[in-house]
Amino acid sequence: MAAKGALARYHRRRDFSKTAEPEGRLAEPSSNGSPSYVVQIHDARSMHFDFRLEADGVLKSFAVPKGPSRDPHDKRFATPTEDHPLEYRDFEGVIPPGEYGGGAVIVWDEGTYRNVSSDRAGHEIPLAEALERGHASFWLDGRKLHGGYSLTRIRTGEGGGREAWLLVKHADERAASTGTPDPRRARSARTGRTLGQVAAAVRAAGDRR
Ligand code: MN
Repeated sequence: MAAKGALARYHRRRDFSKTAEPEGRLAEPSSNGSPSYVVQIHDARSMHFDFRLEADGVLKSFAVPKGPSRDPHDKRFATPTEDHPLEYRDFEGVIPPGEYGGGAVIVWDEGTYRNVSSDRAGHEIPLAEALERGHASFWLDGRKLHGGYSLTRIRTGEGGGREAWLLVKHADERAASTGTPDPRRARSARTGRTLGQVAAAVRAAGDRR
């Protein structure tokens, strides 16, 4: 289990009387044995993908401006964001304008993963620890993404700068030459909807009130 307070930053940034995002608590790990991951597309101040891996009862989260690629030649810049509650993997909707992260969110991809992180001697290390050390590898079994990926820290946050990471596809049998689709045309793995359709549905529901 994660330490108490692991979601403190998540809670501090949000007013749950205004946003429909889950308040969320620390949760027990997925009971079926395989931890989950989710990739959301978030039409916030700047469009980005949110890549989240279940570990230690939370979703370890990274904002990936261009989104994950299936092409091992693509090095996708990623920035760590605060741990999110596990329930966040179900969130698709609109964060109200003016609130933290205001804008539409769709669940672009979801699935389970297998941690394949190891130290230099080849010993397996837990995912959360691998992230702390700055290099994690995992095999995704998702609706859209498949195969091995790594997250590697290329710049620490020491000295005031923002931490920087790269998300890269492994050159394995699930690698491909196709990148990531246009986020505005991409469709939810849950509902088939685009960001625009999710935003329109929320507007329509508001108009009926
Ligand atoms: Mn986001």
